[in-house]
Amino acid sequence: MRTLIRGVRVFDGTTTTERADVLIDGDRIAAPDDAPVDTEIDGTGKTLLPGLIDAHTHVFDGDLAQALAFGVTTELDMFCLPANLARQRRAADRDDAADLRSAATLATAPGGHPSQIMTSPEMRTRDFGDAAGLFDTVRGPQQAEAFVQARLAEGADYLKIVIDSGTASGAPLPVLTPQTATALVDAAHAAGLRVIAHAVTVDDTLTALDAGVDGLAHVVCDAAPDSGAAEDLAARIAAQDVFVTTTLTYFEALTGTGEDRELLRDERIRSRLPAHLRSAADRDTDAIPVHAHGAPNAVHAARTLHDAGVRLLAGTDANPFAPLHGAGLHRELLLLTLAGLTPAQALAAATSSPADCFGLTDRGRIAPGLRADLLLVDGDPTRDITATRAIADVWRRGVRQPRRD
Ligand SMILES: [Zn+2]
Repeated sequence: MRTLIRGVRVFDGTTTTERADVLIDGDRIAAPDDAPVDTEIDGTGKTLLPGLIDAHTHVFDGDLAQALAFGVTTELDMFCLPANLARQRRAADRDDAADLRSAATLATAPGGHPSQIMTSPEMRTRDFGDAAGLFDTVRGPQQAEAFVQARLAEGADYLKIVIDSGTASGAPLPVLTPQTATALVDAAHAAGLRVIAHAVTVDDTLTALDAGVDGLAHVVCDAAPDSGAAEDLAARIAAQDVFVTTTLTYFEALTGTGEDRELLRDERIRSRLPAHLRSAADRDTDAIPVHAHGAPNAVHAARTLHDAGVRLLAGTDANPFAPLHGAGLHRELLLLTLAGLTPAQALAAATSSPADCFGLTDRGRIAPGLRADLLLVDGDPTRDITATRAIADVWRRGVRQPRRD
């Protein structure tokens, strides 16, 4: 199957070409040639982007298909237990769902985050199966090596460690010691795995940085804009060349500002949501209390990191509470521009940057030979970032998805 998209604006992952032709040949992007094509698409007034990558999600049944419907062609899962992961990997093999990379079981202290969430009634129904307390945890540095080996056996693509002393939510939690965190990072690196840390406060993030992590799964939410704390932390993160996944829409959902409701009122998004999600979108999201100023603090933290030259990745932390898989990433892109990124920089944060930081060399850009994971939208998201919501077509591995309109 050969498809030629003619005269389309192309954002290739880093830069924009106002008018070009792009050929999809089988499952790959190819240089246009003179050979016949099966389908021609007029790209006038449209923009072609690499399929979006959400750099922080938690995947359950149906999530990968929903993500793909919103142009998210790859999800980077940050915690998935074995039975669920096996199911999601099978889903990700299909052409009608997003592709998946996963941390498999994350590393936390016994009783540590997110055990307190997994004991909630809603989560108990989500095939955490054995329920909280029964997944593999790490008691001390001497267990780090075996823990990492067990993750390799699970097929983990990277290691996720949790440094969360509970201060952001006002409820102290057991947490990995600095020695254990360092031992986990060393064992993962020895095994060839990148390490991404969950931390949402300045203190916990410093512990993660001391341990030598490669990336952070959140910005911090406890640094008040006038305190200088975010600036000091950003300088440290930049000096260590650590990437940061922003999850601004996650903090927004937890803080309960209600501003994220604009996404679900946007007809371009709403029209693609299954009916049950339109009502679920109105559900209470106060299950995990965080700092009252968490959302504005998080936007400030992202702005400060961007100013310091830190590489930012767009991620939602989509999970069974909020935000929504697929749809949420379009809100994250808007929030990144409110944090000072240009629309093109925000788009890079959801395409080429996560591909680079996670070693996904076959995607995240539009270039001959790469996977034909593509998103075609009406309008110009390099000027108006919300144009990513005006989805015209999505290809996953060269397979054009059924149109919804
Ligand atoms: Zn998460």
